[in-house]
Amino acid sequence: MSISANASKYDPWLAYLTQVERVTPYLGKSIQPYVNTLKVAKRALIVDLPIVMDDGSIRHFEGYRVQHNLSRGPGKGGIRYHPDVDLKEVMALSAWMTIKTAALNLPFGGAKGGISVDPTELSARELERLTRRFTSEIGPLIGPQVDIPAPDVGTNPQIMGWMMETYSSIKGHTVTGVVTGKPLHLGGSLGRVRATGRGVFITGVEVAKNIQLAIKDCKVAIQGFGNVGSEAAYLFEEAGAKVVAVQDHTGTIFNENGIEVVELQKYVHHNKGVKGFPKAQEISNENFWTLQMDILIPAALEGQITAERAQNLTAKLILEGANGPTHPEADDVCLERGITIVPDVICNAGGVTVSYFEWVQDMSSYFWSEAEINERLDKLMINAIADVWQKSTDQDCSLRTAAYILACERILKARQERGIFPG
Ligand code: NAD
Repeated sequence: MSISANASKYDPWLAYLTQVERVTPYLGKSIQPYVNTLKVAKRALIVDLPIVMDDGSIRHFEGYRVQHNLSRGPGKGGIRYHPDVDLKEVMALSAWMTIKTAALNLPFGGAKGGISVDPTELSARELERLTRRFTSEIGPLIGPQVDIPAPDVGTNPQIMGWMMETYSSIKGHTVTGVVTGKPLHLGGSLGRVRATGRGVFITGVEVAKNIQLAIKDCKVAIQGFGNVGSEAAYLFEEAGAKVVAVQDHTGTIFNENGIEVVELQKYVHHNKGVKGFPKAQEISNENFWTLQMDILIPAALEGQITAERAQNLTAKLILEGANGPTHPEADDVCLERGITIVPDVICNAGGVTVSYFEWVQDMSSYFWSEAEINERLDKLMINAIADVWQKSTDQDCSLRTAAYILACERILKARQERGIFPG
């Protein structure tokens, strides 16, 4: 089911290029000559994945791994299994990872991968075969010092476990640091599964304070109730807010008195979607965007907040759990209407931050407690959003442009100091 015809016209790579164009005038003269390095992907690999299905037939799938920029360190970015995955989408997602790791000052570049597949249509054995073949095909491009995948839409810790096992089998020894978001007993990190939703909450609370929005009085609407959306929903409810609407790929539910998040999590676990949840009414997908709400959390796919939807939004604060949920024209509408957007490259960076912690733990074979991880995550994210807020105040620009200024300066300074090979 597509969310809307408008949203499907969105070109994520073009949206990313627009964001780079918008930040360019703010960048210092000495790094201006290097800006074009942000407008291209360093490497892109397209792979054919022939898989023997359970019925004995052979199906071909197409997979991708893109390394957008490696100026600041190894590539880092998730693997998406979704029918809409294509090269342009993966390029945009890898570029956003470049910006995100730099905005958080993590020692990584940006990468992303994916397979054009609906994982719900495959059996567990087929999914495992697909994952193992994909890992072997992108094997020459990944590695703990080179490029480190992680979960994204449609992938999970089990899939990361299969990737780690396949890569290790090829190398002939266990290489835990080749992927993050793994199961705990395979070198995964405590706190990783909930980290992205936690980061959405932490950055949301910080910005809410700055715009005098009291969380406990807030109505929250969430699109996407997976890893990111459901954890953010849980934390906002715990802080006293009411989750009044949730939309996922099965439909939209609404209850102005609040939807109990844990109950909905259990329901979604058993029913594979929010549709039919008994303690809320079903509304049309388009009505979701005009509901009374204080905070909107897009936590599904790209391109959901169009200029038209932005015109009618009642939210005061948008927390971008998803990557690239807002069209550049909608950014302009929100700026005009005084709606504050905490951009994806900061808001959903909790996941990559704990992935960084996981990688560090794997490298040193020394593992931290969940309390330690959450404390470090909270500190890093609070500092990052404070820097972005300060930059947006100093430059009188949106939080997105401010985050891009900080990130692009770091990336381009690294490029400048490394120089251009062969010189
Ligand atoms: P997920 O697969 O766990 O959940 C995705 C959710 O989106 C599900 O509730 C699904 O029903 C919903 N969805 C899918 N198609 C939809 C549609 N057409 N209309 C409405 N809802 C739809 O994925 P996730 O890991 O929660 O990722 C969600 C977003 O957050 C993605 O943009 C992803 O790139 C981004 N993100 C995820 C992480 C992470 O650590 N998982 C980190 C950073 C950013």
